[in-house]
This record gives sequence, structure tokens and C-alpha cells, in this order.
Amino acid sequence: MIRSGMRVMTRSDTRSNRPAIEIADILRRHGDAYRRVHAGHLGRVERRVMSAIVACRTEALGGHMEACDDCGTTRVAYNSCRNRHCPKCQGRARAAWLAARQADLLPVFVAGEVVVFL
Ligand SMILES: [Zn+2]
Repeated sequence: MIRSGMRVMTRSDTRSNRPAIEIADILRRHGDAYRRVHAGHLGRVERRVMSAIVACRTEALGGHMEACDDCGTTRVAYNSCRNRHCPKCQGRARAAWLAARQADLLPVFVAGEVVVFL
């Protein structure tokens, strides 16, 4: 299901750094068994998070068309679940946070056996 129109796609959007196996893949394969085994310990919130992660960026949440502003190639991009526990949706925020923390680090030089903190 496609819900909305087009937006301009940049070159950085076309790079794929998708891992070989995602949490969603594991939940699709073993989620039902996990829910059965842990039925008494899983609340509504945990079940909702699991469902959101499985549905994230699939046709279940709809999608939109993206078009490359250089070559005009179009593709369907499925919508995100925007759940704060979803590793796909929080990947960009996590990378930004990590970059900010790395910028906070003090430079360290190792001179022989001596570590010098600046
Ligand atoms: Zn998501």
C-alpha cells in the first residue's frame, strides 16, 4: 500500500548499510514461539514493541515513492514504525549520539609506555 507522493532522494539515501540479520528477522522467525513461552511475562507494551519492529519498513505500514534527483530512478520506500525501541528507527539517532560522545572525548596520546591525557 502506498500512501503519499514523492520526495527528493539524496545520494546518502541510496547507500545501504543494512545488517545481514536484523532483530525484525529474528522476531519474524521466533516471535510467536517467544510469545508462547513467555506469555505470562510479556505485557501489552512489550507485545506492541515486538509487532512494531516486525512491521517497520514493510508494506504493513504503507510506503511512498522516492526519486533520485540525479538519475530520476524511483523506488518504493516503506514507512517506519517510529517506535523508540525499534533499532531501525533509532539507528540515525544512535549514530548522532555516538558521534557527539566521541567529540566529547579528550585526545589521548601514547608515547612509549606513558599515556598522556590532554
Ligand atoms: Zn521502526
